[in-house]
Amino acid sequence: MPGFAGRFSGRSAVITGGASGIGLAVAQRIVDEGGRVCVWDRDPGQIEQAKTVVPALHGVAVDVADAAGVESAAARTLEALGGVDILVTSAAITGPNMTTWNYSTEDWQKVIDININGVFYCNKALVPHMLERNYGRIVNIASIAGKEGNPNASAYSTSKAAVIGLTKSLGKELAKTKVTVNCVTPAAVRTAIFKQMSQEHIDFMLSKIPMARFGEVDEVAALICWIASEECSFTTAAVFDVSGGRATY
Ligand code: NAD
Repeated sequence: MPGFAGRFSGRSAVITGGASGIGLAVAQRIVDEGGRVCVWDRDPGQIEQAKTVVPALHGVAVDVADAAGVESAAARTLEALGGVDILVTSAAITGPNMTTWNYSTEDWQKVIDININGVFYCNKALVPHMLERNYGRIVNIASIAGKEGNPNASAYSTSKAAVIGLTKSLGKELAKTKVTVNCVTPAAVRTAIFKQMSQEHIDFMLSKIPMARFGEVDEVAALICWIASEECSFTTAAVFDVSGGRATY
Protein backbone atom coordinates (compact mmCIF):
# COMPACT_ATOMS: atom_id res chain seq x y z
CA MET A 1 0.00 0.00 0.00
CA PRO A 2 1.32 3.50 -0.79
CA GLY A 3 2.09 5.59 2.29
CA PHE A 4 3.09 9.15 3.08
CA ALA A 5 6.85 9.44 3.48
CA GLY A 6 7.84 11.07 6.75
CA ARG A 7 4.26 11.59 8.00
CA PHE A 8 5.17 10.15 11.42
CA SER A 9 8.72 11.43 11.56
CA GLY A 10 9.57 12.28 15.17
CA ARG A 11 6.38 10.64 16.45
CA SER A 12 6.10 7.63 18.75
CA ALA A 13 3.14 5.29 18.98
CA VAL A 14 1.81 2.59 21.27
CA ILE A 15 -0.35 -0.01 19.57
CA THR A 16 -2.11 -2.50 21.82
CA GLY A 17 -2.64 -5.86 20.15
CA GLY A 18 -0.07 -4.60 17.65
CA ALA A 19 1.58 -7.98 17.18
CA SER A 20 -1.16 -9.22 14.83
CA GLY A 21 -3.78 -8.26 12.27
CA ILE A 22 -4.98 -4.66 12.03
CA GLY A 23 -2.65 -3.47 14.83
CA LEU A 24 0.39 -4.90 13.06
CA ALA A 25 -0.66 -3.28 9.77
CA VAL A 26 -0.88 0.09 11.57
CA ALA A 27 2.53 -0.53 13.17
CA GLN A 28 4.04 -1.31 9.78
CA ARG A 29 2.66 1.90 8.25
CA ILE A 30 3.79 4.14 11.10
CA VAL A 31 7.31 2.69 10.96
CA ASP A 32 7.39 2.93 7.15
CA GLU A 33 6.33 6.58 7.46
CA GLY A 34 9.13 7.47 9.88
CA GLY A 35 7.63 6.86 13.33
CA ARG A 36 8.63 4.65 16.23
CA VAL A 37 6.25 2.02 17.54
CA CYS A 38 5.96 0.00 20.71
CA VAL A 39 3.44 -2.83 20.54
CA TRP A 40 1.72 -3.95 23.71
CA ASP A 41 0.54 -7.51 23.30
CA ARG A 42 -0.15 -10.31 25.74
CA ASP A 43 1.60 -12.89 23.58
CA PRO A 44 5.44 -12.58 23.72
CA GLY A 45 5.85 -15.18 20.93
CA GLN A 46 3.56 -13.12 18.71
CA ILE A 47 5.62 -10.00 19.47
CA GLU A 48 8.80 -11.82 18.36
CA GLN A 49 6.99 -12.98 15.22
CA ALA A 50 5.86 -9.38 14.53
CA LYS A 51 9.47 -8.20 14.82
CA THR A 52 10.39 -10.50 11.95
CA VAL A 53 7.85 -8.55 9.84
CA VAL A 54 8.70 -5.07 11.20
CA PRO A 55 12.22 -5.31 12.68
CA ALA A 56 12.16 -1.77 14.13
CA LEU A 57 9.31 -2.58 16.51
CA HIS A 58 9.67 -2.25 20.25
CA GLY A 59 7.51 -4.63 22.23
CA VAL A 60 6.16 -4.98 25.75
CA ALA A 61 4.33 -8.15 26.77
CA VAL A 62 1.29 -7.07 28.78
CA ASP A 63 -2.30 -8.14 29.32
CA VAL A 64 -4.34 -4.95 28.79
CA ALA A 65 -6.94 -6.27 31.24
CA ASP A 66 -4.35 -5.93 34.02
CA ALA A 67 -4.50 -2.30 35.20
CA ALA A 68 -1.18 -2.45 37.09
CA GLY A 69 0.48 -4.19 34.15
CA VAL A 70 -0.67 -1.42 31.81
CA GLU A 71 0.72 1.29 34.12
CA SER A 72 4.05 -0.51 34.21
CA ALA A 73 4.02 -1.00 30.40
CA ALA A 74 3.42 2.75 30.04
CA ALA A 75 6.39 3.56 32.29
CA ARG A 76 8.66 1.13 30.41
CA THR A 77 7.53 2.50 27.05
CA LEU A 78 8.06 6.13 28.03
CA GLU A 79 11.55 5.21 29.17
CA ALA A 80 12.30 3.36 25.91
CA LEU A 81 10.75 5.87 23.47
CA GLY A 82 11.12 9.08 25.47
CA GLY A 83 7.46 9.98 24.86
CA VAL A 84 4.25 8.74 23.28
CA ASP A 85 2.26 10.82 20.76
CA ILE A 86 -0.16 8.19 19.47
CA LEU A 87 -2.17 5.40 21.07
CA VAL A 88 -4.06 2.87 18.99
CA THR A 89 -6.04 0.31 21.00
CA SER A 90 -6.41 -2.81 18.88
CA ALA A 91 -6.22 -5.59 21.50
CA ALA A 92 -9.51 -7.47 21.76
CA ILE A 93 -11.10 -10.90 21.77
CA THR A 94 -14.46 -12.00 20.37
CA GLY A 95 -15.69 -14.44 22.99
CA PRO A 96 -17.57 -17.57 21.93
CA ASN A 97 -20.35 -17.33 19.32
CA MET A 98 -23.54 -18.25 21.15
CA THR A 99 -26.81 -16.73 22.24
CA THR A 100 -26.69 -14.26 25.11
CA TRP A 101 -28.59 -16.45 27.55
CA ASN A 102 -26.16 -19.32 27.04
CA TYR A 103 -23.10 -17.21 27.78
CA SER A 104 -21.19 -18.18 30.92
CA THR A 105 -20.58 -15.26 33.26
CA GLU A 106 -16.84 -16.04 33.03
CA ASP A 107 -16.80 -15.74 29.23
CA TRP A 108 -18.85 -12.53 29.39
CA GLN A 109 -16.51 -11.06 32.02
CA LYS A 110 -13.41 -11.93 30.01
CA VAL A 111 -14.66 -10.01 26.96
CA ILE A 112 -15.61 -7.03 29.11
CA ASP A 113 -12.26 -7.08 30.95
CA ILE A 114 -10.17 -7.05 27.79
CA ASN A 115 -12.34 -5.12 25.32
CA ILE A 116 -13.69 -2.40 27.63
CA ASN A 117 -11.55 -2.23 30.75
CA GLY A 118 -8.38 -2.79 28.72
CA VAL A 119 -9.18 0.20 26.49
CA PHE A 120 -9.96 2.31 29.56
CA TYR A 121 -6.70 1.34 31.32
CA CYS A 122 -4.59 2.18 28.24
CA ASN A 123 -6.35 5.51 27.58
CA LYS A 124 -6.06 6.38 31.29
CA ALA A 125 -2.37 5.48 31.42
CA LEU A 126 -1.32 7.70 28.51
CA VAL A 127 -3.67 10.71 28.56
CA PRO A 128 -1.84 12.54 31.41
CA HIS A 129 1.43 12.13 29.52
CA MET A 130 -0.13 13.43 26.29
CA LEU A 131 -1.57 16.42 28.14
CA GLU A 132 1.87 17.19 29.55
CA ARG A 133 3.33 16.80 26.05
CA ASN A 134 0.56 19.03 24.65
CA TYR A 135 -0.08 16.60 21.80
CA GLY A 136 -1.87 13.31 21.39
CA ARG A 137 -3.81 11.17 18.97
CA ILE A 138 -5.86 8.31 20.39
CA VAL A 139 -7.59 5.92 18.03
CA ASN A 140 -9.68 3.23 19.70
CA ILE A 141 -10.75 0.31 17.53
CA ALA A 142 -14.43 -0.46 18.06
CA SER A 143 -16.51 -2.43 15.53
CA ILE A 144 -19.58 -2.03 13.39
CA ALA A 145 -21.01 -4.71 15.75
CA GLY A 146 -20.96 -2.03 18.46
CA LYS A 147 -23.35 0.10 16.40
CA GLU A 148 -25.61 -2.55 14.96
CA GLY A 149 -25.32 -5.52 17.34
CA ASN A 150 -24.40 -8.96 16.03
CA PRO A 151 -26.48 -11.98 17.06
CA ASN A 152 -24.38 -14.66 18.78
CA ALA A 153 -21.77 -12.04 19.67
CA SER A 154 -23.51 -9.89 22.27
CA ALA A 155 -20.59 -9.62 24.69
CA TYR A 156 -18.36 -8.44 21.84
CA SER A 157 -21.04 -6.09 20.45
CA THR A 158 -21.67 -4.67 23.92
CA SER A 159 -17.97 -4.15 24.51
CA LYS A 160 -17.55 -2.32 21.20
CA ALA A 161 -20.57 -0.08 21.91
CA ALA A 162 -18.80 0.79 25.17
CA VAL A 163 -15.61 1.70 23.30
CA ILE A 164 -17.68 4.12 21.20
CA GLY A 165 -19.14 5.63 24.40
CA LEU A 166 -15.72 5.95 26.03
CA THR A 167 -14.28 7.58 22.90
CA LYS A 168 -17.10 10.12 22.62
CA SER A 169 -16.91 11.01 26.34
CA LEU A 170 -13.12 11.23 26.60
CA GLY A 171 -12.91 13.11 23.29
CA LYS A 172 -15.29 15.76 24.64
CA GLU A 173 -13.39 15.98 27.95
CA LEU A 174 -10.18 16.67 26.02
CA ALA A 175 -11.68 18.77 23.23
CA LYS A 176 -10.01 22.03 24.31
CA THR A 177 -6.60 20.37 24.50
CA LYS A 178 -4.27 19.16 21.76
CA VAL A 179 -5.25 15.53 22.41
CA THR A 180 -7.86 14.06 20.06
CA VAL A 181 -9.77 10.82 20.72
CA ASN A 182 -11.58 9.03 17.91
CA CYS A 183 -12.60 5.52 17.06
CA VAL A 184 -13.01 3.37 13.97
CA THR A 185 -15.73 0.80 13.39
CA PRO A 186 -14.55 -1.86 10.93
CA ALA A 187 -16.75 -4.58 9.51
CA ALA A 188 -15.21 -8.03 9.07
CA VAL A 189 -11.53 -8.14 8.11
CA ARG A 190 -9.92 -11.55 7.71
CA THR A 191 -7.28 -11.81 10.46
CA ALA A 192 -6.28 -14.29 13.15
CA ILE A 193 -9.34 -13.14 15.13
CA PHE A 194 -11.46 -15.27 12.74
CA LYS A 195 -10.01 -18.36 14.48
CA GLN A 196 -12.10 -17.38 17.51
CA MET A 197 -15.36 -17.38 15.50
CA SER A 198 -17.67 -20.04 14.12
CA GLN A 199 -17.95 -20.41 10.32
CA GLU A 200 -21.66 -19.51 10.60
CA HIS A 201 -20.74 -16.24 12.26
CA ILE A 202 -18.11 -15.43 9.62
CA ASP A 203 -20.65 -16.13 6.88
CA PHE A 204 -23.21 -13.94 8.67
CA MET A 205 -20.75 -11.03 8.90
CA LEU A 206 -19.93 -11.26 5.19
CA SER A 207 -23.63 -11.37 4.28
CA LYS A 208 -24.12 -8.00 6.02
CA ILE A 209 -21.48 -6.13 3.98
CA PRO A 210 -22.93 -4.31 0.93
CA MET A 211 -19.55 -4.49 -0.86
CA ALA A 212 -19.87 -8.28 -0.50
CA ARG A 213 -16.26 -8.80 0.54
CA PHE A 214 -14.11 -8.75 3.66
CA GLY A 215 -12.01 -5.67 4.37
CA GLU A 216 -8.21 -5.80 4.21
CA VAL A 217 -6.02 -4.84 7.16
CA ASP A 218 -4.33 -2.15 5.06
CA GLU A 219 -7.68 -0.52 4.31
CA VAL A 220 -8.35 -0.15 8.03
CA ALA A 221 -4.75 0.86 8.78
CA ALA A 222 -4.91 3.63 6.14
CA LEU A 223 -7.86 5.27 7.91
CA ILE A 224 -6.38 4.82 11.38
CA CYS A 225 -3.10 6.37 10.27
CA TRP A 226 -4.86 9.42 8.88
CA ILE A 227 -6.77 9.89 12.15
CA ALA A 228 -3.48 9.36 14.04
CA SER A 229 -1.67 11.98 11.96
CA GLU A 230 -1.30 15.73 12.56
CA GLU A 231 -3.52 16.33 9.54
CA CYS A 232 -6.62 15.07 11.38
CA SER A 233 -6.84 18.05 13.73
CA PHE A 234 -10.47 19.28 13.79
CA THR A 235 -12.04 15.92 14.59
CA THR A 236 -12.47 14.41 18.03
CA ALA A 237 -15.03 12.20 19.79
CA ALA A 238 -15.91 10.86 16.33
CA VAL A 239 -16.68 7.43 14.95
CA PHE A 240 -15.39 6.43 11.51
CA ASP A 241 -16.91 3.47 9.64
CA VAL A 242 -14.60 1.32 7.55
CA SER A 243 -17.19 -1.25 6.76
CA GLY A 244 -17.84 -1.74 3.04
CA GLY A 245 -21.13 0.13 3.42
CA ARG A 246 -22.35 -1.66 6.55
CA ALA A 247 -23.69 0.94 8.96
CA THR A 248 -26.92 1.72 10.73
CA TYR A 249 -26.21 5.37 11.60
P1 NAD B 1 -6.06 -10.18 15.93
O1 NAD B 1 -6.55 -11.33 16.73
O2 NAD B 1 -5.34 -10.45 14.66
O3 NAD B 1 -5.16 -9.22 16.83
C1 NAD B 1 -5.51 -8.93 18.14
C2 NAD B 1 -4.23 -8.87 18.96
O4 NAD B 1 -4.62 -8.51 20.29
C3 NAD B 1 -3.47 -10.20 19.06
O5 NAD B 1 -2.09 -9.99 18.77
C4 NAD B 1 -3.66 -10.62 20.51
O6 NAD B 1 -2.55 -11.33 21.05
C5 NAD B 1 -3.85 -9.27 21.19
N1 NAD B 1 -4.58 -9.37 22.46
C6 NAD B 1 -5.73 -10.05 22.70
N2 NAD B 1 -6.05 -9.94 23.99
C7 NAD B 1 -5.10 -9.20 24.57
C8 NAD B 1 -4.88 -8.76 25.90
N3 NAD B 1 -5.70 -9.09 26.91
N4 NAD B 1 -3.80 -7.98 26.15
C9 NAD B 1 -2.94 -7.65 25.16
N5 NAD B 1 -3.08 -8.07 23.89
C10 NAD B 1 -4.16 -8.83 23.60
O7 NAD B 1 -7.37 -9.30 15.65
P2 NAD B 1 -7.65 -8.10 14.61
O8 NAD B 1 -8.63 -8.59 13.63
O9 NAD B 1 -6.40 -7.46 14.16
O10 NAD B 1 -8.45 -7.10 15.55
C11 NAD B 1 -7.92 -5.86 15.94
C12 NAD B 1 -9.04 -4.98 16.45
O11 NAD B 1 -9.99 -4.75 15.41
C13 NAD B 1 -9.83 -5.59 17.61
O12 NAD B 1 -10.16 -4.55 18.51
C14 NAD B 1 -11.07 -6.13 16.94
O13 NAD B 1 -12.16 -6.22 17.82
C15 NAD B 1 -11.28 -5.04 15.89
N6 NAD B 1 -12.11 -5.48 14.79
C16 NAD B 1 -11.72 -6.53 14.01
C17 NAD B 1 -12.53 -6.94 12.99
C18 NAD B 1 -12.15 -8.12 12.13
O14 NAD B 1 -13.04 -8.66 11.45
N7 NAD B 1 -10.90 -8.53 12.10
C19 NAD B 1 -13.74 -6.28 12.72
C20 NAD B 1 -14.10 -5.21 13.54
C21 NAD B 1 -13.28 -4.81 14.57
